[in-house]
Amino acid sequence: MPEPTPSNYVPLGRVRRQDGAPRDQVTLEAFLPGRWSGSLVLTYSPVDPVRVGSGVLFPQPVRGQTELVQDVTLVRGKPVLPGSSVKGAVRSLVEAIGGGCDLQGTCQPLCVACSLFGTVQGNDSWKGRVGFDDALAAKDVKLGLARLPRAFPPKATVGRRAYGPAPEGVRGEDPYFVVMPGSTLTGRLLVHNLDDAELGLVLTACGLDGSFAPRLGGGKYQGLGRTRIAVTSARLRQGPGRPRALRGAELDERISLWLGAWQPPEGADKVLGVLRQQMGVR
Ligand SMILES: [Zn+2]
Repeated sequence: MPEPTPSNYVPLGRVRRQDGAPRDQVTLEAFLPGRWSGSLVLTYSPVDPVRVGSGVLFPQPVRGQTELVQDVTLVRGKPVLPGSSVKGAVRSLVEAIGGGCDLQGTCQPLCVACSLFGTVQGNDSWKGRVGFDDALAAKDVKLGLARLPRAFPPKATVGRRAYGPAPEGVRGEDPYFVVMPGSTLTGRLLVHNLDDAELGLVLTACGLDGSFAPRLGGGKYQGLGRTRIAVTSARLRQGPGRPRALRGAELDERISLWLGAWQPPEGADKVLGVLRQQMGVR
């Protein structure tokens, strides 16, 4: 019998499935009373090295030898964290703590994750109400080199899981450029017609309560990617009113209200406990 490959993930428990807002009640055509629309400016601060791979190999001298290193994704010469990658990571956290469907078969009525992040079912598609811009590195970006073992597909589907620190006894092989802790990237969270509880759920999944940092980018199986997310300002309209800038104490107070408005479904506390264990930053 071959030794089992060391792994660093923990299966997440099940959460009672929650219905999302029905499509006809959260149209994208109008700004609905009591719901928030606009943008929140996010800063991303890596706690672990973060790999945002471009697939391009870059010849780099390493300890006196030239090695081909997988480059990071660059925009205007600066590392960029693609919004699609952040959206995927935050969506799966929303599914895990908010009780989303498993994207198997049809989702009718829409679960909370499909209602927020969108879904495609046959010819029918729903764009969703949450998006993320690409995040660009601010001035102080530090690049480093990480060696990752070759990834392998799990033998059986393992369902939702949370990744922890790197497993012991796995040797890194292929070199990758990574964005190092101490760097800051800035992007935006875009929302359309979210109520207080929905915004609270999305921000909880982003780790805004400060108890964990979501893993973003590649190499999670080798302990990479924990990234603290913070909201530094927002420009939001509530209902059809004019958009307003929110910052400082007013913004912090709002964030607390949103976080408190989300009612975790049955089982969510256990899942949050695992996330805090595997991705904790306190
Ligand atoms: Zn769904």
